[in-house]
Amino acid sequence: MSASPPFDIDIDGLKRRYRQERDKRLRADGIGQYAEVAGRLAGFDEDHYAAAPASRAPLTEEVKVLIIGGGFAGLFAGAELKAAGIKDFLIAEAAADFGGTWYWNRYPGAQCDVESYIYLPMLEETGYMPKERYSYAPEIFDHARRVGRWFDLYDHAIFQTRVERLAWSDEQARWRVTTNRGDDFLAQFVICAPGFASRPKLPGITGIDRFKGKMFHSGRWDYHYTGGDHRGGLTGLADKAVAIIGTGATAIQIVPHLGASARHLYVFQRTPSSVDRRRNRPTDPNWFAGLDAGWQQERQANFDAILAGGEVEEDLIRDSWTTLFRRKRELERDCPDIARRPDFDELLDFEHMEALRARIDADVTDLHAREALKPWYRYLCKRPTFSDNYLPTFNRPNVTLVDTSESRGVEEIREDAVVACGVAYPVDCIIFATGFELNTSVERRIGFDIIGRGGTSLREHWKQGLRTLHGHSTHGFPNWFFVGQSQNAASINYTGIVREQARHIAYIINQVDQRGAQLIEASRAAEDAWGEEIRRAARVDEAFWQECTPGYYNGEGGGGPLVIGSASYAVGAAAFHQILERWRQSGTLPGMEIS
Ligand code: NDP
Repeated sequence: MSASPPFDIDIDGLKRRYRQERDKRLRADGIGQYAEVAGRLAGFDEDHYAAAPASRAPLTEEVKVLIIGGGFAGLFAGAELKAAGIKDFLIAEAAADFGGTWYWNRYPGAQCDVESYIYLPMLEETGYMPKERYSYAPEIFDHARRVGRWFDLYDHAIFQTRVERLAWSDEQARWRVTTNRGDDFLAQFVICAPGFASRPKLPGITGIDRFKGKMFHSGRWDYHYTGGDHRGGLTGLADKAVAIIGTGATAIQIVPHLGASARHLYVFQRTPSSVDRRRNRPTDPNWFAGLDAGWQQERQANFDAILAGGEVEEDLIRDSWTTLFRRKRELERDCPDIARRPDFDELLDFEHMEALRARIDADVTDLHAREALKPWYRYLCKRPTFSDNYLPTFNRPNVTLVDTSESRGVEEIREDAVVACGVAYPVDCIIFATGFELNTSVERRIGFDIIGRGGTSLREHWKQGLRTLHGHSTHGFPNWFFVGQSQNAASINYTGIVREQARHIAYIINQVDQRGAQLIEASRAAEDAWGEEIRRAARVDEAFWQECTPGYYNGEGGGGPLVIGSASYAVGAAAFHQILERWRQSGTLPGMEIS
């Protein structure tokens, strides 16, 4: 290998190994391997946290704005509408409270892997001090409710109400919105804020509906069955053999609790996650009290800048996310001659993955598990994970790691067993930690199709990938806005970007009013140009994703909606927000057609 110190890695050998491991997992059915939580699998969507909704009369109202989704994005959409003087809006939410991802994901160990001081929004305004550096789910859920109260949004919410259809009426120049509660709304504007970790995704494994024991998805944890709470203590599993399918960021957090409580735990792994140390700690109240005004925004911007490869005076966060990106910047500084620079991205990546693989050797005693747990792919091919107790769980005598890579995943589910690589493992309970609808078609991700002008469906419009202006508007879908991460700001810290988007959308709606207009939508030319800009700015190309092990980041290895062109604006959140700022300052709503 030609790398300069401090690297001493057989890159060619590693690349070969990465390719072999990827090929082992590639499946011809790609995204088609997953089944939608609908029809015979609809039971996987059951809300175990709230009582069945009290009956209410269907609503037939006309509102100015209907917001779909009550997670942080929906909350900020409501808050920013209020700030812009728009009070006539409703927030429709399928859950029984605000919180989105954090309403649904209550599994034991659920925790955010982004620092609480930047992830929990509005800490300065609300005066709330997070208990720990990395917050557990109940604290984040409570905070979402705190934000809802702070902005007086509860009066605007209709909970336990799932939108089923959204169609533009040319005649009425309004969106017609119908729900599972029989509601029939007319809305001048619609803001979709569906989040990305709320709609469970299931593997379409043969026999999934034949299992006679207990099954549920990690995002709909059934504590009535398992006992215990988010801290574990799952006493209901003491006499049960439990299977967990999946070893992504969610499973990493659940497995230690299942290992501690179940009679026997089988962890069905197809691709191992990279698992870095967590090193959580309680918040020091003196440190927190001494923070200067404006600290949170500064800290959020610092995190985003480092992850976007920008220059900062000081890394205020200094955690696993920032350290890797900061190191690359430092190495580049030490090697100013660009022509002679090695590919630091690649070298640091290999070095980091080598360190994480070495960690497994140190933490896991069982030789079979030790080898199977090693991730062989580039660090950012999959969501990195963090845990101090996941790996040691495989040292427990009641825990078995089942490596399903040779059969490209679990093969079959029988009445009483899970089958992988030809072996049947009898179990009482199956927990699917198999992720969320993230890279499937838009109607599956949102839960319904959206019909725009002239009966065009959004699914069709986005069939070849997303087409938007700045991620929020799309041609043929007047007065419709989307808050999320695609073709939008790129940040690991999701809550940091949704407020800015909400502010921008509220500005646009306000402009329509101020100009005495009724309709606004992105022009076709503007959405084409923005798609080009996303492609131009991309940090990694198609080849990077093709070399990656399959997963939702790369359309299961076969390309897909999340690959380049539909991705986020890679230059970073600050740069994206400046684009929006300049756009507003122009005062001419460029790229939008208003009438
Ligand atoms: P993922 O989609 O990341 O993982 C799904 C898992 O299921 C993978 O291990 C996958 O294997 C496995 N799987 C799917 N089908 C099969 C099959 N047929 N047989 C065996 N295994 C199978 O879902 P998660 O819920 O773990 O995470 C989703 C996202 O939620 C994360 O990427 C992250 O963005 C977010 N999250 C964030 C957290 C945070 O702290 N901020 C915590 C938890 C989640 P394979 O990899 O081979 O496809």
